[in-house]
Amino acid sequence: MDEPKKPRKSYISFWLIALAVFILLQMFVFPRIFSQQVTQVSYDTFISMTEQRQIDQVEIESDQITFTDTDGNLYCTGVLDDPTLIERLYNAGAEFQSEIESDSTNPLLYILISYVLPIVLMVLIFRFFSKKMAERMGSGSGSMAFGMGKSNAKVYVKSTVGIRFDDVAGEEEAKELLTEIVDYLHKPERYKEIGASVPKGALLVGPPGTGKTLLAKAVAGEANVPFFSISGSEFVEMFVGMGAAKMRDLFKQANEKAPCIVFIDEIDTIGKKRDAGQFGGGNDEREQTLNQLLTEMDGFDGSKGVVILAATNRPESLDPALLRPGRFDRRIPVDLPDLQGRIDILKVHAKKIKLAGNVDFAAVARTASGASGADLANIINEAALRAVRMGRSTATQEDLMESVETVIAGYQKKNRVLSNKEKLTVSYHEVGHALVAALQSQSAPVQKITIIPRTSGALGYTMQVEEDEHFLLTKTELENKIATLTGGRAAEELIFHEITTGASNDIEQATKLARSMVGRFGMSEEFGMVAMESMQNQYLGGDANLTCSMETQTKIDKKVAEIIHTQYNRAMALLKTHTAKLHEIAKYLYENETITGEEFMQILNRPQIAQQPTA
Ligand code: ADP
Ligand code: MG
Ligand code: ZN
Repeated sequence: MDEPKKPRKSYISFWLIALAVFILLQMFVFPRIFSQQVTQVSYDTFISMTEQRQIDQVEIESDQITFTDTDGNLYCTGVLDDPTLIERLYNAGAEFQSEIESDSTNPLLYILISYVLPIVLMVLIFRFFSKKMAERMGSGSGSMAFGMGKSNAKVYVKSTVGIRFDDVAGEEEAKELLTEIVDYLHKPERYKEIGASVPKGALLVGPPGTGKTLLAKAVAGEANVPFFSISGSEFVEMFVGMGAAKMRDLFKQANEKAPCIVFIDEIDTIGKKRDAGQFGGGNDEREQTLNQLLTEMDGFDGSKGVVILAATNRPESLDPALLRPGRFDRRIPVDLPDLQGRIDILKVHAKKIKLAGNVDFAAVARTASGASGADLANIINEAALRAVRMGRSTATQEDLMESVETVIAGYQKKNRVLSNKEKLTVSYHEVGHALVAALQSQSAPVQKITIIPRTSGALGYTMQVEEDEHFLLTKTELENKIATLTGGRAAEELIFHEITTGASNDIEQATKLARSMVGRFGMSEEFGMVAMESMQNQYLGGDANLTCSMETQTKIDKKVAEIIHTQYNRAMALLKTHTAKLHEIAKYLYENETITGEEFMQILNRPQIAQQPTA
């Protein structure tokens, strides 16, 4: 935005012209005010001047009498109930007239000139200037989007932001997925030839500050096509009915400019779940806008090369209709960066400031665990600011470490950042799960373990992959699952001889599984094939309903506890025989924060290191 001045100037000249018009109108329509000095005199002076035949012209209005003397001076006086006045004036030979005739012009014309004309003029002038302004801003490059002018607002501007994928550090997964879109925009023919339809829309999801907006801009920069960017809130702020119109306009323009990218930031503001008329219909305006978006997405021809990107940090609140195939069916997760990612982001932003030669980015990144890309950019900037305050010309390691504190301190309240002790505990916990899973031949191997805190509240997590999808689970498989779930807690106890609150979700899941084994699947000797639970609301998450007596319930609870206990012991036994591996992998995870399934299996399968690592 490099032109806040120009609109201001236009406003000034607008007011100047308006003032000139006003003055001109006053001069022609109400000329008397500008003509000459009016002397106020008493009624008897007026009468005596009449008697002395000093009066030339008289104009009688309802509330005053104006008259001129023979020299042309203008006088005025009040009106009295004087029936003889006319006769006296006549005798004095004065020229006189009363109010209605005073404006000898046509009354309709009078109204037109004095009331309608100024309004019309004002409107014309205003429109002229707003059009001028819209043109000026429209031709400016660099401005991303603005709303102004006509009702269906021309808002989207081709922006030539030179952001490339290289400016986005980490987020390799997201970049890979987006590369396909870039490739499509480069060579749409290749895709057309084979008949492939590229996804119309991709949704970038992830916590705030992880670079979603940045990634979208990078896609535009890489693909080198027009980039229409608009934020969801811009649709909502508008007058009633404008949101939908604006949406239509956006897509119309995009279709004309294809191939191009349309980016809707913060799409959750318009894409929230529509609920069935709470409180008298809910937000109609937003719903209309959303409907328009859905219609437009269905309506346009994907092969023309319009790709729609959207970003949100609240994917769970989106209307399911938006996520349907043919709309935003491709989800691109943009997660908080891991250690390597943080180092890379720090390096990208460090290019913008002057740094001392001996800066250790890894050390900075390590202390800033849980920080987002935006936080890291902020850390670099804070370090530069601190260097200036200290009167230095380059930022040092100390500046960086200090600014981590400043940035993270404010941030710690909002988000969780793990202390080193916690990180260690979480590492062992997660590796405990994974190790138990991997050691049981039938259990799914892990795909990825991370101890980067999630926005969901989990401190770490183990992503498991099922080898092949199956719906029938054997009793052994169920038991193995329970053993895996207890593996986290078992590892904590084995290593630290202390247990934490971190296992609450595991416990919940294990209990659910064990309860189903007894109550629904008939997998216990005591009860055999007796159904003691029935499922309700299958499609809404499923609530289990107990259908047995209180005594039986007590027995079930006992049996459930027994199952879990047995599996816990089994998990513990497995971990005990592989304690060395547990240490080795947990240490790796602690240092790298993320470990992939391959790395995990590699460490697991490589020959034992002789010395015992210390915890
Ligand atoms: P989001 O849209 O996900 O909330 P932004 O894209 O607006 O986050 O990111 C805010 C700023 O943080 C960016 O302008 C950039 O300076 C910095 N940033 C975030 N993620 C990254 C990243 N992966 N690489 C480099 N800079 C990043
Ligand atoms: Mg954003
Ligand atoms: Zn766990």
